[in-house]
Amino acid sequence: MHRARLKAPRPGAQWTGITTRIAERLLETRAVDAVLAMVPDPADRWKPVPALITEPAAMAAARGMRMGYAPLLALLEPARDRGHRRLAVIGIPCQVHALRKIEAGFGFEAIFVIGTPCSDNTTTESFHRFLALLSPRPETISYLEFRADMMVELRFDDGRKTLIPFLELPIADLPADFFPLTCRTCVDYTNALADLTVGYMGGEGEQWLLVRNSRGAELLALLGDEILLSPVTDRGDRIPHVKAFLENTRRAAGGLPLRRMPKWLRPLVGRLMPRFAPKGLEFARARVEMKAIETLLHLERHAPAKMRHMVPPHVRAIAARYGLRSPQAAAGQPGTTASTSARASAAGTPAP
Ligand SMILES: Cc1cc2nc3c(=O)[nH]c(=O)nc-3n(C[C@H](O)[C@H](O)[C@H](O)COP(=O)(O)OP(=O)(O)OC[C@H]3O[C@@H](n4cnc5c(N)ncnc54)[C@H](O)[C@@H]3O)c2cc1C
Repeated sequence: MHRARLKAPRPGAQWTGITTRIAERLLETRAVDAVLAMVPDPADRWKPVPALITEPAAMAAARGMRMGYAPLLALLEPARDRGHRRLAVIGIPCQVHALRKIEAGFGFEAIFVIGTPCSDNTTTESFHRFLALLSPRPETISYLEFRADMMVELRFDDGRKTLIPFLELPIADLPADFFPLTCRTCVDYTNALADLTVGYMGGEGEQWLLVRNSRGAELLALLGDEILLSPVTDRGDRIPHVKAFLENTRRAAGGLPLRRMPKWLRPLVGRLMPRFAPKGLEFARARVEMKAIETLLHLERHAPAKMRHMVPPHVRAIAARYGLRSPQAAAGQPGTTASTSARASAAGTPAP
C-alpha cells in the first residue's frame, strides 16, 4: 500500500488522475488495445456511460467520479467482436466481481483491472436530488467528493470551492432508497479483485494505492517518476467511532429514535470531528468495519435468507468483534423503511 499523487495532477481528475493516467500509459505503450471505462453522458455530466477507449488522449474524457450505475461489462462483447485482444477495465467493486466471474469466457489474451474503492452508489437521478439539497444552483456543481477528513468537497463551474462537514449534510432528507440495499450490503469496499486499487480513503489527504499482485505492480511501474509515493499513515483509534456507528445503525434498523446531536452543536462538532477522527489506514479500517456491520444488520432485516451465502467468513469475523453474531444480529427489532445507514450518519455518526 502507498500514499500517492501524480506530480502533475490532471485537470478534471477526481484526485490527481492516477487511474486514467495508468490507462493512458497502457494505450501509449500498446500494452492494451482498448480501455473499458466510464465517461460522462453528453447531456448530464453526472451520468456514467460505458466507453471503449482506444486513443490515449481520449482517456481525459473518463476523468472524474460520476454517481450512478451503467452497464460497463456490456461492452466486453463488442470489444471482442472488434478484435481487441488485450484490454484494461476500470471499475468499481461490483463491476470487477462480475468481470472476474465471466472474463474467462471471452478468451481475451490479457485483462488489466484497475479498480477504485466504492463505499456507496446511487442512481444519477437520486444524486441530482442530493445536489439540489446542497446548493440553490445544483446545475453548477462540477465536483463532489466525500473526503477522508469527513468533509464533502464541492466545486462549482465558476471556480468556487466549499467544504461541508458530514454532520451538516441533509442526509435525513434523502429518500429511504437513496443507497440501495445492494450497496448497503456490499462486502467489498476496497475492490479486492482488482490488480490495482486506486482510492483515497487510506491516503490521509492523498490517493491510496493497493497493489494486489504482479500485474498491479506492472500497472504502477508504467507511471515511472510521474508519481510520488510515500508510506501510508496510521493514526488514532477507530473502535469508538465504529461502535457509535453500530449503535446508530442498529437503532435505525429497529425503527428506534436515534441519538441525534442538537442542531446548534452540529457546526462546531462537524468542524472539530476531523481532528479526533482516525487517520490513514485506521480510517480505512473504520470504513471497512462499518460496511461489515451495515451488511449484517441490513441483510438480517431485509433478506435474512441470503445471509448464509452473501456474508463471507472474514466479514462475519469483523462484525463479531463488535458483538454482532450472524445470523441473529438484530433479530426481533421492529421495522423501518428508512435507509438505516443514512439515518445513522444523520444522527451524528460519521458514515463516509
Ligand atoms: C460511486 C463511486 C464511489 C466511490 N467511493 C469511494 C470511497 O468510498 N473511497 C475511495 O477511496 N474511493 C472511492 N471512489 C473512487 C474515487 O472517487 C476516485 O475515483 C479514485 O480515487 C480515483 O481517483 P483518480 O483521480 O485517480 O481518478 P480519475 O483519473 O479521475 O479517474 C476516475 C475513474 O473513475 C471511473 N468512474 C467514474 N464514475 C464511475 C462510475 N459511476 N462507475 C464506475 N467507474 C466510474 C472512470 O471511468 C475513471 O476511469 C468511488 C468512486 C465511485 C465511482
